[in-house]
Amino acid sequence: MQIKDQLKQLKPYQPGKPIEEVKKEYQLDKIVKLASNENPFGCSTHVREAIQAELEQLAIYPDGYSASLRTDLSEFLQVSEKQLIFGNGSDELVQIIARAFLDQYTNTVIPSPSFPQYRHNAVIEHAEIREVPLLEGGAHDLQGMLDAIDEKTKVVWVCNPNNPTGNHLSEAEFVAFLDQVPSHVLVVLDEAYFEYVRAEDFPNSLSLLNSYQNVIVLRTFSKAYGLAALRVGYGIASEELIRAIEPAREPFNTSRIAQAAARAAIKDQDFIQSCRQKNEAGLTQYQEFANRFGLFIYPSQTNFVLIDFERDADELFNALLKKGYIVRKVIGFPTSLRITVGTKEQNEEILSILADLLQGIRA
Ligand SMILES: *Cc1c(COP(=O)(O)O)cnc(C)c1O
Repeated sequence: MQIKDQLKQLKPYQPGKPIEEVKKEYQLDKIVKLASNENPFGCSTHVREAIQAELEQLAIYPDGYSASLRTDLSEFLQVSEKQLIFGNGSDELVQIIARAFLDQYTNTVIPSPSFPQYRHNAVIEHAEIREVPLLEGGAHDLQGMLDAIDEKTKVVWVCNPNNPTGNHLSEAEFVAFLDQVPSHVLVVLDEAYFEYVRAEDFPNSLSLLNSYQNVIVLRTFSKAYGLAALRVGYGIASEELIRAIEPAREPFNTSRIAQAAARAAIKDQDFIQSCRQKNEAGLTQYQEFANRFGLFIYPSQTNFVLIDFERDADELFNALLKKGYIVRKVIGFPTSLRITVGTKEQNEEILSILADLLQGIRA
């Protein structure tokens, strides 16, 4: 047997430490996981009922076209039904796009550090990877990305707001970028944290789709909607682009339960509003902490913060783990930790532990 060479340089996805394992290892009875930007408030209460109704139909394949979800979402977003594609999480849309556009004769331009799946899928497709480091402060280097584009470039990835830094690009910056990207290049605009954004200058990406046929916007039900377990994300682009990539999608890639849950979740925008508000208050808790200790937090438009502790982040990570708090170490940021904004109480607890740790070190 001979596996593709590209796979040999990749590692399987490393999930954060399993909660049960951490509990046992440190003899804790409570673990708080603030590592994967999941919604600490769960999901809309309407979702449970919607799922219940589907349990009678488990023997029947889901609707491969997601027709009902498609109708609801197209009305909600004010786009046509044919402008949508659904994925088993937006992760799968990244895979579909890589599969549809990339091969060994192509290259792809990726900000770094950013969401790891862009690179991962491009490597599997054997494309040349052109990583462009973020600017100091965590923003995309759009000029650097433009400079990296040539006639073999097929896909450019933009993560807005960016994971793991949380920074956002403004509409003016993004439009100036789009105006310079050649039309043979697809721009993937990953907006996984869209529902949390508060910046008034954030791009109205859906209205840009009318002027730029080479853009696809990715969003997900995994973050603010709180449905990470069900795996449903979606792409929005011109009808032509969606039609072109559809054959790269598996026919039954989103489950019956996921489709029903997503429909119920869209209808409960009050839940999203309340999560936005609580998240904003949470971000303030972290900012106040950072001010008090003179630490830099990357300016976040998301439900996570990347805090630069100006010291070995591994040590802090382990100290938090011992207390039952799982956060994220981030490759490329050796002195920072990424922490998901939790409930008010969770934020208070982790910040008080961090305050003790930092004071302990200074004393
Ligand atoms: C979480 C995340 C996704 C993936 O979400 P799915 O659960 O696969 O929908 C995509 N992009 C970014 C930047 C993310 O942080």
